[in-house]
Amino acid sequence: LDVVSRVSPAVAASIAQELRDQRSHLKLIASENFSSLAVQLAQGNLFTDKYAEGYAGHRFYAGCDNVDAIESEASELGRELFGADHVYVQPHSGADANLVAFLAILATTVESPALERLGEKNPAKIGHADWEVLRREFLGQRLLGMDYYSGGHLTHGYRHNVSARLFEAHSYTVDPETKLLDFDQIRARALEVRPRILLAGYSAYPRKINFARMRELADEIGATFMVDMAHFAGLVAGKVFTGDHDPVKHAHVVTTTTHKTLRGPRGGMILSTPEYASAIDKGCPMVLGGPLPHAMAAKAVALREALDPGFRDYAHAVVDNAQALADALQWRGARVLTGGTDNHIVLVDVAESYGLTGRQAESALRSCGLTLNRNSLPFDANGPWYTSGLRLGTPAVTTLGMGTDEVTEIADVITSVLSQTKPAADDKGGTSKAKFNLSESVVDGARKRVADLLAKHPLYPEIDLDIVD
Ligand code: PLP
Repeated sequence: LDVVSRVSPAVAASIAQELRDQRSHLKLIASENFSSLAVQLAQGNLFTDKYAEGYAGHRFYAGCDNVDAIESEASELGRELFGADHVYVQPHSGADANLVAFLAILATTVESPALERLGEKNPAKIGHADWEVLRREFLGQRLLGMDYYSGGHLTHGYRHNVSARLFEAHSYTVDPETKLLDFDQIRARALEVRPRILLAGYSAYPRKINFARMRELADEIGATFMVDMAHFAGLVAGKVFTGDHDPVKHAHVVTTTTHKTLRGPRGGMILSTPEYASAIDKGCPMVLGGPLPHAMAAKAVALREALDPGFRDYAHAVVDNAQALADALQWRGARVLTGGTDNHIVLVDVAESYGLTGRQAESALRSCGLTLNRNSLPFDANGPWYTSGLRLGTPAVTTLGMGTDEVTEIADVITSVLSQTKPAADDKGGTSKAKFNLSESVVDGARKRVADLLAKHPLYPEIDLDIVD
């Protein structure tokens, strides 16, 4: 930080402040984690300066030997960890990975007269004029994914995302009563829509999915089965999701982020069967520009860490903690969607339990030292901005070494704060959906309990911030 500080004291100060903030707040954001210092340092180095368009062994730049070594190492580790035939480690993010995957699937499977005429399966080799023809053929294709408002991701066909421009996007949703995915309903939708891509995966759904049955369905309708395991990749790597629940065993193409339960650097990856490999490897230039070698280096480090047997213990502890959190919240009167969880996510209906919006609950808890995010619940009357729900996740606190006793204490703090938070009046004398009242003594009491928990489980104890100050 001293080196950064000499150039930009403001940036160095923000980095130091972020560490202070993360040390003084309990991180319960389901999509975040704490990566190791090895991952962080592998990412912050001179590979930042290197261009390496192409892929390992096939570059459009000179001097890529070391990048080749890193990219090959990361892919090899990904194949070993997940048992995948092919792993592409270049996507800069989960959204990029999905876009590359969509285009690669289209290029591999669409029976396109234009492609036929060109005698070409590789979209990267197609000239601009032919893309105009292809665009017309590709644009007619259908995508069927989980509805954004039921826990699916933006990139799965949400109307303002490019996925909904590229495809005729359709969705399946959860059962209005149970809030669970119902396979018969998904099958009925699939038979009706007949999608080119059947997509599974979620950002806010607390249950596991039977991917074996989804694959059978995809085969029945002649679709490609794609799974976005961004949220639960660490649970697949850690062998919590096995057999019918292991997406890599059943899907043609699996996309993921590397920074959530997998505990790596920010980034994406694509795993696939051999059939899709060559189109996926053309991610650059199809979607991406130059890869980020420093990020691929950090992915390789994180994948190596995930191969350590200790990572399996971690992944199982993440789920044990989430289940303990869900149980403890319910015991204390909170309404937990679907009655619990099979993964790292717990969804709480704060509107029904406490008469609050998600926004009020999120802000009240942040003022008490807990960081988590509001989330719309299926069929949410408060809409996606205010919401009726909170999404809690256990990956980060588990990385700190917390166990079921600590998460039970966390549930107690949360329910005690939320039950004493009241909606405040808005400027016009009505009830605000954002403002709330919470007494200082409740805030102080909660902050003290959070501080006690964090003191026993320090974040990056190796880093001495006094040196920076
Ligand atoms: N897919 C899913 C299921 C996600 O939850 C997310 C991020 O939250 C993404 C894709 C996008 O990842 P990124 O933010 O890295 O683009």
